[in-house]
Amino acid sequence: MPREWDLIVIGGGPGGAAAAAVAAMAGLETLLLERGGTLRHKPCGGILPEITEELIEEVFGAPLPPEVLAEQWELRLRYTPPSGEANGGRVRESRLLNVKRDHFDQWLRDRAVLAGVTVRQNARVSDVEANGGFSVSYSQRGEERRATAARLVGADGVHSLVRRRLAPNAVAPKMLVGQRLVQVAGELPADFHCVFAGMLSPFYAYSVPKGRLLKIGSGMTEEERTDLMPSLDRFSEWLEQNGVADLGEVVQQEGWAIPFGEQQLDAAGALLVGDAAGLCNPLSGEGIRLAIESGQLAAEAIIEAGLRSPVPDYRDGVTGIAQMVAALHRVVLTTDDDAREQFVAAELARP
Ligand SMILES: Cc1cc2nc3c(=O)[nH]c(=O)nc-3n(C[C@H](O)[C@H](O)[C@H](O)COP(=O)(O)OP(=O)(O)OC[C@H]3O[C@@H](n4cnc5c(N)ncnc54)[C@H](O)[C@@H]3O)c2cc1C
Repeated sequence: MPREWDLIVIGGGPGGAAAAAVAAMAGLETLLLERGGTLRHKPCGGILPEITEELIEEVFGAPLPPEVLAEQWELRLRYTPPSGEANGGRVRESRLLNVKRDHFDQWLRDRAVLAGVTVRQNARVSDVEANGGFSVSYSQRGEERRATAARLVGADGVHSLVRRRLAPNAVAPKMLVGQRLVQVAGELPADFHCVFAGMLSPFYAYSVPKGRLLKIGSGMTEEERTDLMPSLDRFSEWLEQNGVADLGEVVQQEGWAIPFGEQQLDAAGALLVGDAAGLCNPLSGEGIRLAIESGQLAAEAIIEAGLRSPVPDYRDGVTGIAQMVAALHRVVLTTDDDAREQFVAAELARP
């Protein structure tokens, strides 16, 4: 049966946009399906390590434009250990980018269009079938549609439908992350501030300035989900008591998740990237760069493989990222306040 597309990518976040753009630039007829509309909201801190700038230029063929950057577009990284502010400080040579995530994702999708990708937004995928190639069912503005392709990339995030449909027995544990946007009286803190203290969160708590508001967040286990919002209350108190910020009204509150533990890099011949594959740093919650890198690697494996299965090449290519994430997961699982104290001391002592 002739297939309409060389490649269908499901999900138009950083991972999907990267995979689709790289594939289209190599001449593959590529369809990207994204359930959200223009400027779809994704709960996120919007913080990128400096190195992502170069990666984005390489994958999307242009530097990040000013309109996707937050007002405080360049930040330093500040760590505080369980013993408190007195033993915390800025990590030397740390430079982070602060993006407006909704605008950032839309720009990535726009770049994918310029690379030759057919992007369909408001297109929610409801089913995926592997049948030698792949058939995808989706609805767009009330109309039920189907598309077929030789290759499939699942870039549909932490609750990936592609992963659930094509690897139904795979487990996908998660870390929950709560966020609030809060008004601040007086000056906003100028850093991306990470606080490691078991009484706040078993993982991390962070704050980041976004325009005139402060975004605060914290991570929680799935078992302790009822403690997610109370942990944000504790962190708000902590920020005030430690003189970091004088917090006012909560403007927005949300909860989402990051993958936490099990990876699934492919399923029935489809390649999974970013959060769908379980590739997110559990120590810092950083996942955007890993999504772009794994998306790029998936597209390169598909291009390289030609008529062969791209699975072995992709597994090979993504090994470094997968091993790093697995190692960090082991670290996080065994962390207590003594280990957090040592971690921050070591990071701040780094030359
Ligand atoms: C609260 C919070 C804060 C975070 N802060 C940071 C941070 O500061 N820096 C950082 O690097 N990372 C951060 N992360 C992690 C980061 O957001 C993710 O790792 C990253 O977005 C993964 O990119 P992705 O492309 O794999 O998935 P996503 O960005 O989740 O994109 C998946 C896309 O697939 C679409 N989709 C899903 N299902 C379907 C369907 N059925 N049909 C069609 N489309 C579908 C979605 O609409 C979405 O656009 C944070 C995560 C959370 C939860």
